[in-house]
This record gives sequence, structure tokens and C-alpha cells, in this order.
Amino acid sequence: MGNTRWDDEYDVVVAGSGAGAMAGALAAAAAGLRTVVLEKTRVLGGTSAYSGSAIWLPGTAVQQRAGIGDSTEGARAYLRALLGDDEEERREAFLSTAPELVEFLESDPALEFTFQAFPDYFAAPGRLDMGRSFVPLELPVEDLGELADLVRPPVDRDRAGRGHSDKPMAQGRALIGRLLLALTATGNGSVRTETPLTGLVMEDGRVAGVEAGALRLRAARGVLLAAGGFESSAGLRAAHGVPGAADWTMAPDGANTGDAIEAAVRIGASTGLLDQAWFCPGLLTPDGRPAFTLGFRGGLIVDGSGRRFANESLPYDQMGRRIAAAEGPFHLIFDARSGGLPAISVPPLAMDEQVASGQWVRAATVDELAGRIGLPAGVLAETVERFNGFAGKGSDDDFHRGEDPYDRYFSGGRPCVVAVDEPPYFAARVVLSDLGTKGGLRTDPDARVLDGSGRPIPGLYAAGNTSASFTGPVYPGPGVPIGSAMAFAYRAVQHIRR
Ligand code: FAD
Repeated sequence: MGNTRWDDEYDVVVAGSGAGAMAGALAAAAAGLRTVVLEKTRVLGGTSAYSGSAIWLPGTAVQQRAGIGDSTEGARAYLRALLGDDEEERREAFLSTAPELVEFLESDPALEFTFQAFPDYFAAPGRLDMGRSFVPLELPVEDLGELADLVRPPVDRDRAGRGHSDKPMAQGRALIGRLLLALTATGNGSVRTETPLTGLVMEDGRVAGVEAGALRLRAARGVLLAAGGFESSAGLRAAHGVPGAADWTMAPDGANTGDAIEAAVRIGASTGLLDQAWFCPGLLTPDGRPAFTLGFRGGLIVDGSGRRFANESLPYDQMGRRIAAAEGPFHLIFDARSGGLPAISVPPLAMDEQVASGQWVRAATVDELAGRIGLPAGVLAETVERFNGFAGKGSDDDFHRGEDPYDRYFSGGRPCVVAVDEPPYFAARVVLSDLGTKGGLRTDPDARVLDGSGRPIPGLYAAGNTSASFTGPVYPGPGVPIGSAMAFAYRAVQHIRR
């Protein structure tokens, strides 16, 4: 036995409080294990709370209720088409766990999900054009009582330092709020905010607990690291070559700086995929932070030379990767008719505010617009003219925008290549943003963290963006980050219980 002086003793210590962490904590506490969630910041939920809370867990009762023709086999075919032979074991673990996880979650009165149409991201066998992901039901703030203040508010309110409104919690807040309700109701789960994990304590060759500053917390059965990625660390991003910028990530300010990954590496854990993130285009808002944007129904995006370089309506991670490979600065060009506002932007964008703040530039002609954003005279006009020709004939010969059902999903089936020819013209700065890094600790199908020789480190588990994703550089469909975080956190707990 070791001789550490423990300040508190638990069976399971969970670091982080995103969807994976909270699902893992709930599974542990519901199984009678004394469980604590350690959260670095003042509020719970991290990026998961900001999210749309689409959950990609295929083949479950939710899809069966919706009658959408989803199945584990269909999802398997789809993932195989995208990932080939890579990560077959973890992929199978994910697929086989999804139905059981959802059955477990929905057996709790606090948790209920409903299908939400949102196409899978790739044209590949097994794809469902309306997707297979689902979301939690909204949650009246009153249902949470005093716990409501523990849930991270929506992005715009959070960035401005304002708390929740009295509207029902939706999307990611509903997911975190519901998981919190369920966790608290077990009687075995507690949360400690403003308590960052700073290190791992080894005893007799296994992880026996954690350090949280001066605190030593024992974890008799296991430690689950689900404390996000390192998207907010400029230093780690640079060290591992992650495109984009710490200032442009969508994660809450300063939250996810790779602490848990680094703590595990210090005790011998191995890492993978460290240059990868869940990428997206971001439109800068008046405070200089990006809005996560998707569903471009109008306008065109040009690079630093004033030319298009991709199908603007691509799923956001794929568009982000095109941005990473091109030369900026990037601008969305639109006009009075096409409207620049993408179908979804988080936080929401208001045209007047964007223009008044100078983030969006307005001009009477395309040439004037080009001059105002520093593009070579004539090139932007040529690009727009060529694009308008494609809009006129209904086909984008350069980048095939509008040919995939995903492209048209957000324009309600209407063409998404719309002429840009009605003044005034606008330019909006586009940056490479992300929803978090997706490289991190290497794990096995039970979410056990592996050392440099590929052996599990006893007592240590990881899920979500703290772990290297089984999807490699691919973002298969809406809800994969959260779905996979929850599935592997749940598997970690099933292993801990054995
Ligand atoms: P997080 O949810 O960020 O949680 C990490 C938590 O750990 C944070 O609370 C952080 O403060 C805490 N933490 C960090 N360091 C420590 C430490 N040392 N000790 C203790 N705690 C620590 N994904 C989907 O699957 N579906 C969607 O619909 C979706 N929509 C999105 C919409 C938006 C606007 C955004 C921004 C993202 C969206 N994503 C979506 C992506 C998804 O939200 C994230 O990739 C995912 O939630 C990350 O989960 P995580 O648990 O790894 O990290």
C-alpha cells in the first residue's frame, strides 16, 4: 500500500465535466461507486455545453423510434468506407456500446432523446441523407433549481459574462443539465468546480488518485480523464502543429489547455493524432472571437488571392481543412440578395452589429470591396463574375457546390449557388476555427490509457478530446465528438466495474 495522505477518498475520480465526463460519472455513480467530477472552471460543461448536442450513437432505440432506417450494420458500413481498416477494434467497441449506453441513459427519468435530422458528412455507403444523430429534450431552468448556475451558459452570454436567461436550457446546456440532474439523484456523485486536475498519483504501479493543486484525492477504482483537448494552449498547438489559433477556437476561454494529457504523459502515457482538430470555418464577431458557422446558403469564400478554393457548403470540418491548406486571409463575399448569414452560427450573428463594428465591410461595387479588404483589383470581380455564371446555369463547374444533399440541406432544397450581383456588397473575415483538438492519449477499446509499449496503465482511462479519436482525421457525421466521448467514458466505467 502506498503512503499518500489523501484529503478525500472516492472510487472514481473524473477530470472534466463535458458530455463524456458527465456520462461516465453518471454510469459510475449509478453503479454505486462514490464518484466525483473535478472541473477546472467555475461552471460545468465545457465546449459540450456550447454545442448543438447532436449525438452520433447509431443503432439505438432513439433511431428505431424515429423509423429512419438506421442500424449498427449501416453505421458500420459507413465508418468502414471512411476509415478503412484503421482503428477497427475501437470502432467496434463504439458501435456495440451505443445501444446499451442509450438504454442506460434513457432508463433515467432525467434523460430523454429525440432524433434530429442532420445529414451525415460524407457520400459513402451506409450514409443516411437525413443523418442518424439525436439530441436531448430541452430542460426548463427551474427543473435544475440551484444547480442551474453550475451549467455553462450559451456562448454569447458566457463570453459577455452574463448567466443563463430564463429560457429553457437547450442543446448542450440541456445535455449537461440533464446529466447533472441524473448524477446528483444517484446520491453517489458530487462535483467540485474550480478544482483543476494538476497531476496523477501512482502507488504500487497503478494510478491511485489525483492531485488537484494542494489536494490529494484518492480514486480507489479508477481515474477517468475527460478534460477536453489542448485547443486553448497556443504553446501546445504550436508544438504539435495544429492549424488555427488558440484565440480562434470555440472552446470556452482558457479552459482546455491539455492539462490532463500532460499529467498522463508525465507518468508514461503515449499520445497520437496530436496535429488534429475538429475544424470549422469561423466568422469573426465584434469582440474578435469567432462564431462557428455552417450551412452557407449564399455568397462565396475567397482566399488571399481573391479566388475561390473550395465548395463553401462543405461540411464544416472538411471546409476547415480546405482553409488550413490554402493561403489567407479569407473572406466571405456576399450581397444584398444572397445574404451572408449562414444557416447556423454560434453565437448568432447580427448584420448591423457586424457592419457597425467593422468586422464586415460594405461597399457599393465589387471592385471597391476588393480595395477595402486588400485584394488585387480585378481578381475579385472576375471570381464573382465566374461564380455568377455558375449560379445562372445551376452548376458549379469548379467545386461542385450544391451537388451533395448536405450542401442543399441548409437551403431547404433550393440551390445554394446564388448570384452575388445586387449591391451593396459585403466582405466578412473568415478564420480557421475548431471545436477542439482531437489528438491526445492513446487508449484501447475499454478507454484504458496506453503507455509507450502499448500496455494499459492500470487505473487510468481517457475519453473525449483528451484521448486520440478513433476517427483519425475524419469527422464522419454530426455528433461524433460527443457520441464517441460518451461511449468511451461509459466503456471506461464498465471496465472499472469488472
Ligand atoms: P469539453 O466539453 O470542452 O469539456 C472539458 C472540460 O474539462 C471543460 O469544462 C474544462 O473546463 C475542463 N477541464 C480542462 N482542464 C481541466 C483540468 N485540468 N481539470 C479539471 N477540468 C478541466 N459536437 C457534437 O458531437 N455534436 C454537436 O452538436 C456539436 N456542436 C457543437 C457546437 C459548437 C458551437 C461547438 C463549439 C462545438 C460543438 N461540438 C459538437 C463539438 C463538441 O462540443 C466538443 O468537441 C466536445 O464537446 C468536447 O468534449 P470534451 O469532453 O472532450 O471537452
